[in-house]
Amino acid sequence: MERGQQMNIKIEFYDVVIVGGGPAGLSAALVLGRSKRKILLIDENKPRHAVTAESHGFLTRDGIKPKEFKKIAKDQVSTYKNVKHKNDCVINVVKSEGFFETETLKGAKYHSRKILFATGIIDQLPRIIGLSEVYGRSAFPCPYCDGWEVKDQPLAVIGNSERIFEYTRSVHNWSPNLILFTNGSANLSLENKRDLVRHNIKVKETKIKQIISNNGMLKRIQLENGTIISRAAAFIEGIKETQSCKIPEKLGCKIDGNGAYITKQNGLSEVPGLYIIGDAKNLFSGLIKSASEGYCAGVSINSEIIREDW
Ligand SMILES: Cc1cc2nc3c(=O)[nH]c(=O)nc-3n(C[C@H](O)[C@H](O)[C@H](O)COP(=O)(O)OP(=O)(O)OC[C@H]3O[C@@H](n4cnc5c(N)ncnc54)[C@H](O)[C@@H]3O)c2cc1C
Repeated sequence: MERGQQMNIKIEFYDVVIVGGGPAGLSAALVLGRSKRKILLIDENKPRHAVTAESHGFLTRDGIKPKEFKKIAKDQVSTYKNVKHKNDCVINVVKSEGFFETETLKGAKYHSRKILFATGIIDQLPRIIGLSEVYGRSAFPCPYCDGWEVKDQPLAVIGNSERIFEYTRSVHNWSPNLILFTNGSANLSLENKRDLVRHNIKVKETKIKQIISNNGMLKRIQLENGTIISRAAAFIEGIKETQSCKIPEKLGCKIDGNGAYITKQNGLSEVPGLYIIGDAKNLFSGLIKSASEGYCAGVSINSEIIREDW
């Protein structure tokens, strides 16, 4: 049986299969499309920031709705007829001699010279009653993304990892009206605790009973001792980030201690021809860095193909 032929079914061959159609994957698709490459982008369409009403910080797109951002990106990419888009989930990839075989949930198989994973991250929130109702609406992971909209309001930081002091200090930049809820005994040195108090940041160590909200808008935080504290929004630290797609690991790519894929320049992994970009590589890139990495990886992949074919 020849490559591309299985039980008389012709398997489509692409220069690059891109797995994931967030800002990272779509940006790579754009530059590779413009490089005349035959591209297949496969996207399950479950972007990480789908929970938010607005995305911020992307120059020319500040405040855009996530769906609108994706629609504009897809519309622009779709003008390049050499770029195909499939709404599907990649469930397996096998590396064979000189090509990758990609298999999807809908039962399709594709072959490609290169493969790019821009599959993002899944957030696992701390188990606090009421948190998922407000996450993305009035409780956020990143003050650079959402701090401006709640600046100078009564804010909460909820978290207790080893980074909690630095994180709380950052959020204080957006509002000095700040309470840290560690939801248990605080992971802070005495010096750090005193430092927070010196900046008028109260530390509440009592366990949180629940977050009370209305239509996604955080109103109050109730502690297990019955205390109820009014807050307008929260920043959540220490969210567990796990890879959306474990296929690169199966193919031999390494993951660091924080759960991010390890790559070399422009997302090239230890596996020749396999690239990883965006949140999958950085855990939290933001939209603009993800898009930028898509561009750089796209150029790098195209340059590699040019060299190989010269
Ligand atoms: C609450 C919240 C608010 C945020 N707000 C902002 C903001 O205001 N500004 C900002 O810059 N950033 C913001 N971010 C961060 C931003 O969402 C991410 O950094 C960015 O989306 C990462 O882009 P990406 O392309 O790497 O991954 P994603 O955008 O997550 O896209 C990955 C895509 O890959 C698909 N996929 C995964 N596995 C497979 C598979 N096996 N087969 C097919 N498809 C697959 C997913 O379904 C998804 O569509 C926010 C994040 C969160 C959680």
